[in-house]
Amino acid sequence: MIPLNGGDLHINWQKELARAFTSPEQLLDYLHIDPTPWQAGFPARRLFPMRVPRPFADKMRPGDPRDPLLRQVLPLGEEFAEVPGFVADPLDEHDSALPGLLHKYRSRVLLVLRGGCAINCRYCFRRHFPYADNSPGREGWREALDYIAADPGINEVILSGGDPLMAKDEQLATLLDALEAIPHLRRLRIHSRLPVVIPARLTGALKARLARSRLQAVLVLHVNHAREVDDILAEALQDWRRAGITLLNQSVLLAGVNDDAEVLEALSERLFEAGVLPYYLHQLDQVQGAAHFAVGDDQARALMARLLARLPGFLVPRLVREVGGETSKTPLDLGLEPR
Ligand code: SF4
Repeated sequence: MIPLNGGDLHINWQKELARAFTSPEQLLDYLHIDPTPWQAGFPARRLFPMRVPRPFADKMRPGDPRDPLLRQVLPLGEEFAEVPGFVADPLDEHDSALPGLLHKYRSRVLLVLRGGCAINCRYCFRRHFPYADNSPGREGWREALDYIAADPGINEVILSGGDPLMAKDEQLATLLDALEAIPHLRRLRIHSRLPVVIPARLTGALKARLARSRLQAVLVLHVNHAREVDDILAEALQDWRRAGITLLNQSVLLAGVNDDAEVLEALSERLFEAGVLPYYLHQLDQVQGAAHFAVGDDQARALMARLLARLPGFLVPRLVREVGGETSKTPLDLGLEPR
């Protein structure tokens, strides 16, 4: 049971951030795993630093170097492989409308609220994103808000990052005040993996602020494996759902993590138990350094066919791919109807 009132938890999630694992040696030692066979891959953290909060490490299986949660965060030698088609900016995002603001979709804008994440996922499509050039700062916020206010075609703001929940509750509340004052906005969507890796980030203060907003609040989580949703997280999510916040999940299809129908089925079931609807299953964005996570389209379609046979349609996420320059996600045609 975790406390769900703002105060103490507010301190706790920041303390958890500060004591995250940043070295593979430390993490493997914590998990009682012999580092010797993995040491050659450790320099990959120069390509993208390692960062793993302890509550996430606590969900890994001690002694198991093939643990699917560990695989998502452990630097490996494969990251140095130069693979054709895998590039630094797979979604052509590095040029934005304004620093910190991406206007990819007609009615939605994406605000890059904070550059950092609580965890560094080795497959991240933004592992090479120049956050330093896209940090809006105080003046930039004014410009981004003016941009949104000037375009009545925008009805939804998506807070992204990095991880937007790296911002403090007070900063989020200030931004929410400003967004609520723009009459054509209807929804606020927050994309975050932070609660999955530090459940204490689901503070009571933030829940209460979102629950009383005139904007419909949607929290889109990023969970790839059922074991990421432990009882502590499930209980906190159920509480947010009872407060009226819509909870969705997007996963990435990852070799060695969730490229298995039973694993994906267990993930959907576990999400629904926690009050979260499976929303998208993404094909990997072809970012340099992550080719070893790729799953072929034929295998992905075969997995989806098996999921459709096992689960009700509302528990089957849509298999999609992001294509740079496209105005929406591109579904992978399955040639099948959900039940
Ligand atoms: S939490 Fe999301 S944005 Fe952050 S490193 Fe992981 S995949 Fe990338």
